[in-house]
Amino acid sequence: MKILVCVKRVVDYNVRVRVKGDGTGVDLANVKMSMNPFDEIAVEEAVRLKEKGGVDEIVAVSIGVAQAQETIRTALAMGADRGILVKAEGPVEPLAVAKILKGVVEAEAPDLVILGKQAIDDDANQTGQMLAGLLGWAQGTFASKLELANGEASVTREVDGGLQTLSLKLPAIVTTDLRLNEPRYASLPNIMKAKKKPLEEKSAADYGVDTKPRLEVLSVTEPKSRQAGIKVGSVDELVSALKGAGLV
Ligand code: AMP
Repeated sequence: MKILVCVKRVVDYNVRVRVKGDGTGVDLANVKMSMNPFDEIAVEEAVRLKEKGGVDEIVAVSIGVAQAQETIRTALAMGADRGILVKAEGPVEPLAVAKILKGVVEAEAPDLVILGKQAIDDDANQTGQMLAGLLGWAQGTFASKLELANGEASVTREVDGGLQTLSLKLPAIVTTDLRLNEPRYASLPNIMKAKKKPLEEKSAADYGVDTKPRLEVLSVTEPKSRQAGIKVGSVDELVSALKGAGLV
């Protein structure tokens, strides 16, 4: 059994992002980049499934600039076996990513593809669903529990008012939610070992995909800064202050 995990290089979640002066996007100069947190969860889940037995190979794939190699190396240090970097300049929209991933899936024939539920830079929450649509495969999104048995994946999802469990025939697509697991830190020996694991380089053209953006960003703005609070002396004063602000 083979698992493909998708790992995106994004601005580190601890970084306070700054909007560029001309409002065309976020300033990425000298900003720490890391693996998308939901993708760390995807890698961790794949590694746990391999540790349980029955999984022979984990392939980590990233689409992006040359430095996305580092993101793949992190996945390899966590326990993935091999990496594929599909080089592409500039932002690649979810549909183009899904089309490239479809090409990777056709070449690699995995039994399961695990993606994050969303990338924390574009917050699109689209790629896994689009990939499932393009492949015509079953999908279990926002997984908080994943089990494999008898050619099926059992995916538990947190939905309004409870838990929903789906049974998917493999091959299938699963996207990870926050509570699926707690990703491990790669140990130093594993980071060293990861440097020797195979990492293949491809281009979007190898999969016949044009990554030119189809969406136009009109503007990016900073969130409004928080107003200073006021102190109230009683509940009545609080109620009238809320009424005054149109909040009740
Ligand atoms: P999104 O639809 O952009 O919110 O991304 C959802 C998930 O798709 C991410 O958590 C990744 O697992 C995967 N993904 C999106 N973009 C890329 C990329 N450039 N390279 C690898 N995986 C990606």
